[in-house]
Order: sequence, then C-alpha cells, then structure tokens
Amino acid sequence: MVNQVLAAVAWAPKQTQLREFLRPEVPQDGGVLQVETVGVCGTDVANYATVREPRILGHHVVGFVSGLGAEASRRWGLHEGDRVAMEEYIPCGQCKECRRGRYRACPFTDSRRGGLRYGNTPIDVPPALWGGFAEYLYLHPNAVLHRMPAHVPSVEAAMTLPIANGFEWMDVECGVRFGQTVVIQGPGQQGLACLLAAKSLGASVMVVGRQSSRHRLELARQLGADAIVNVTHEDLSQKVLDFTGGDLADVVIDVTSGGSDPVKQSFDIVRRGGTVALAAYKHQTIPAWDVDQVVAKSVTVKGLRGHSHRSVEMAIDCIADGRFPIHLLNSHHFSLQDTDLALRTAGGEGEPNPLLVAVSPGLAQVKKGRHSNPSS
Ligand SMILES: [Zn+2]
Ligand SMILES: [Zn+2]
Repeated sequence: MVNQVLAAVAWAPKQTQLREFLRPEVPQDGGVLQVETVGVCGTDVANYATVREPRILGHHVVGFVSGLGAEASRRWGLHEGDRVAMEEYIPCGQCKECRRGRYRACPFTDSRRGGLRYGNTPIDVPPALWGGFAEYLYLHPNAVLHRMPAHVPSVEAAMTLPIANGFEWMDVECGVRFGQTVVIQGPGQQGLACLLAAKSLGASVMVVGRQSSRHRLELARQLGADAIVNVTHEDLSQKVLDFTGGDLADVVIDVTSGGSDPVKQSFDIVRRGGTVALAAYKHQTIPAWDVDQVVAKSVTVKGLRGHSHRSVEMAIDCIADGRFPIHLLNSHHFSLQDTDLALRTAGGEGEPNPLLVAVSPGLAQVKKGRHSNPSS
C-alpha cells in the first residue's frame, strides 16, 4: 500500500507546490479515496487567486474507495474499490439547515468560518488531504458520496457537480416541465449545465451569449439548444418573441458574470407569471431596479446556489445515460504535475478556449496544454 501521497498544494496566490503527505489512517467511520479525476471549478480559480493558508484545492472529485472503516462501509453501503463522485460539503447532519435537507447551507461547511469543505480546507487541519488535486483524499465520516457507474469516462464523471447545479436550478428550484420555454443567459459551464437539465426535462431552450462567447454558443447548439442568440449582433427581445410565438419565456435564468444588463433584460423577456432565476454574483448593486415590472408581471424571482443530494443523483443519471455529447464540455485534461496550468487555464490565463478543465493524478505528465481527446 502507498504510504506517501503526492498533492498539489496552493500555498500562496497563484502558486502551487507539489508536496508529499502521509497517507491518512483509516478510521472506523471514514475512509480514503484514490482520486481518479477532479474537475476545476470557478470557485477553485477564485480561491487560487486569494489563498492565504496553504491548502489542496479541487472539489469536483470522482475516484475509487481505497480504504474504508467497517462502520463507514455499513453506513455508506460501500466497499473498497467502489467508484464514487463526491460533493464538496461536509455537513454536520444536526443543524437546522441539515434537518431541512439543505445541507449545502450548513454553517459547518463554511470554510471561511472554520468549517470543513473539500477543496478549501487548510492543510494544517489534520489529515491535510482535503482536496482533489492529490493522489488520495481523506473521506470524513460526514462526506457525501454518490455511486458512479463504471462505464462513464472519468472526465465526464468529474462534471457531476456543475451538471447537478443545472438540475437543481431547472428542475428542483424552477420546476421546469415538458413544453415550457427556458432562456439561459450565459453559455459558460453553468449555463450549459442548465441547458442539459432543461432539455432532459422536455423544455424548449434558447441560450444567449455575446460575440466573445460564440464558440460556446455553437457548443450549446451541439448539446441540443433549440435556439441561440448572439446579443452583440441580434435583438434579444425580438428573438424571444419569435421563439415563444409572442408568449415570452416561462423561465429565464441569468448565469452571466459581471454586467447588470442581462438581469434587467431577464424581466423584459419573461412572461406574466413566469420565473426569473439569478444564479451569478455581480459584485455590484443594480440601480433603477424596476420593482413595478416585477409586480405587474407577477414574476417569481429566485436566487440560486449549489445542489442537493437529489440533483446530484439526477446529474449522474444524465451523464450515465449518454444521450448528450457531454464530452464536448471538457476542453483540457492535465496531469497532477500540471495543476497550476489547469487552474490558470480555467481562469483564462493559461491555454486558450477553456471550458471545463480536468486533472487526473493518474495521467502521465504530457506536453503543456494537451487538449483532451473526446473519446478518452
Ligand atoms: Zn464547484
Ligand atoms: Zn449542519
């Protein structure tokens, strides 16, 4: 059995160092995971830019149970060798949010307040291996694990959490149903995840972006979007009228970063009684917010974050089902030694045209910037 575990430690802003750690002891009620692949999240990119205490980032993890205590095996219904996808949360299981089933809001998962969370817990918290950019990761007794079918390629399996957000927001939160029309503002990974979810639910889907994201708009079409709009050249309101036969959209979701225009436009293009979902931080207040328009159109406004146990299961079903060409979402696949480049690429400062970037500790280090082979 391996006793040394290699991990990529983010030790200062945008600085990574490969370090070795002792493989953790396996407690009765916990375990150890051999990391197969970890997807790079926007949160990882943000944390990498601001890291103070050294930590192992990475929380979109899929891997194999490599050591398991007897009590954990009994509670989780898992055995050594089982393949699982993990959630980032390590909920307490006892607080009000956990009791309500909203364990993503459990205060004990808030790493800014000393809580535990995969991919954002300092290495000075024993046993240090709290992140996916490592050969092995410690499975806390309260880790949230989901079985992953063997046939799913690892880079697709590592997309479970972003796709789960799509199902959480479209199905669980917005109640999208067959025959409805959904407009998604922003063709990034969250927008495309919403597209997969909304198409799975039977909706007609329009994806909206700018000239700078035209490749992603084209990708949206390949993934099944019924319409795409490039707002740099096209009039969104007219396009939505045409798309909906004059009815406007049942559900509009904004997942664009930065600007306030998509938020304002969302209220113009939603139908009376429809839903506007806001799922991206803007880091600004939006002036001249038209409350009257919200009231007059009886719009339901929702602020959305994260996923639930149910939406992760839905995402795994969607990925395993193979009905969408999900491999198209993966743009880059790196080795553990290239974790820094993977994080920079996902942040737009490394290799060109990033979408979903993955790291596999078992992947041999290759020349910089190997684009992933869709069949791998
Ligand atoms: Zn994430
Ligand atoms: Zn809790």
